[in-house]
Amino acid sequence: MDIHEHQAKEILARFGVPVPPGALAWSPEQAEYRARELGGGPCVVKAQIHSGGRGEAGGVRVCKSPDAAREFAAALLGRTLVTRQTGERGRSVDRLWVEAATDIAQEMYLGFVLDRKSERIMIVASRHGGMEIEDLAETDPDSLVRMVIDPATGLVEYQARELAFALGLTGPQVAQMVQVVRACYRAYRDLDATMVEINPLVVTGAGDLIALDAKMSFDTNALFRRREVAALRDRAQEDPRESYAHDHGLAYVGLDGDIGCIINGAGLAMATMDMIKIAGGAPANFLDIGGGASPERVCQAFRTVLTDPKVKVILVNIFAGINRCDWVAEGVVQACRTLDLKVPVVVRLSGTNVEEGRRIVRESGLPLVTADTLAEAADRAVAAREPVAA
Ligand code: GDP
Ligand code: MN
Repeated sequence: MDIHEHQAKEILARFGVPVPPGALAWSPEQAEYRARELGGGPCVVKAQIHSGGRGEAGGVRVCKSPDAAREFAAALLGRTLVTRQTGERGRSVDRLWVEAATDIAQEMYLGFVLDRKSERIMIVASRHGGMEIEDLAETDPDSLVRMVIDPATGLVEYQARELAFALGLTGPQVAQMVQVVRACYRAYRDLDATMVEINPLVVTGAGDLIALDAKMSFDTNALFRRREVAALRDRAQEDPRESYAHDHGLAYVGLDGDIGCIINGAGLAMATMDMIKIAGGAPANFLDIGGGASPERVCQAFRTVLTDPKVKVILVNIFAGINRCDWVAEGVVQACRTLDLKVPVVVRLSGTNVEEGRRIVRESGLPLVTADTLAEAADRAVAAREPVAA
C-alpha cells in the first residue's frame, strides 16, 4: 500500500528525519493561506498523488508569493497528472502540500528496500539524487552505494557513518546523516514498510540535511496490525478495478488489453497471458482465483473482470488440481445467467472432474466457446473479440 508524500513526511519526522515546515491545502484559497502561514515568502506547492516523477510532469512548483501559490494551486487541483510511473490512467490531484522553499546546495538519494536475494533490508544511496534512481543506475552506476542490514544486529551506527562518508559528507553532516538513516530504518522496521525513499535528500545552503520528498510503501499483509498505517489508505489514488478485487480477496492486476482473464494459479495465469500475446491479443488483467474455488468465487471473479469496461471477451482457463472443474463450470454458468453478460466467454477446463465440468458447460445451453488446449483457448479468445461480419 502506498501513501502520500505528506503522510510519509509526517511519519519520518516523528522518527527524527528533518523535513521543511508545511501544511495541506484542498483549495486554492487554502494554498494561499498556508503560504502566508509559512511566512509569506517563497514556497513549494506540490501535487499529492501516489507517484513519483511529479516534478517533470508539472506537479511541483516553487512559488514566489502566496498569490502565486494560489494561482498554481487553482491550475493544479482537479487535474489528472500522468507521470512516468502512473501509466496512461494518471492520478487525480485533490490535495496539495504547501511547503516553505528550501535553498538547495546538493540533492542526494536515500532509499530503503527489501532485497529479496539477501532477504534483508537494503539501503541504496547516491550523492546524485533528484532524478529517478533507474536513470542513475544507467547514467552513473558508480555513484550508487548499497548496504545490507543484518537483522540480528539491526542497523549499526558505523554502517550509517560509512554511508555518510561514501556520500562525501563531512563534519556535522555525518551525524545528521546517521540520524536520518537510523530514523528511516526504524520507521521501515517498526511499521512493516516495504519501501522508504527520500529523493531528494538535500544539503541546504547552510550545510544541513533535510528531506524534500518522501515516499513510503507498506506490506498489505501486515496492515491488520498497523491500524494507524491502514488508516492512511487513499482509495481515490488506487486503480478502481484493483480496489474492487482486493476487497473481494482476489489476486488481480489491471492491464491495458481487452481480454479478461480468469485463471487458477499465478504460473498458469502468466503462461496464459503470454499465449494471448503470441496469438496477437492483449490481456486486460491478471487474475488468479486460487485453489478450491467455489462457484460463488468464480462468479465474483467474473464481476471483478467486468468492472473493466475495456473487456471484450473473457477467457476462463483452469487447470484443476485442488480446484474442481465441475465447480468452476457451475460458476461460469451461474455468472453467465446472473450477470447479463454481453461479451463472449471462452472456457478451457482440464484436470480434476473435467468430464463433469465439460458436461455442465455443454448442457447449459449457453453460447460458451470451448477449447481443449491453452493455445486453442488463446486463439479463440483473440478471434472472439471481433464478431465476424456476416
Ligand atoms: P517528484 O518529482 O514526484 O519526485 O517530486 P519531488 O518532491 O522530488 O520534487 C521534484 C523536484 O522539485 C525536486 O527534485 C527538487 O529539485 C524540486 N524541489 C522540491 N522542493 C523544493 C524546494 O523547496 N526548493 C527548490 N528550489 N526546489 C524544490
Ligand atoms: Mn522525488
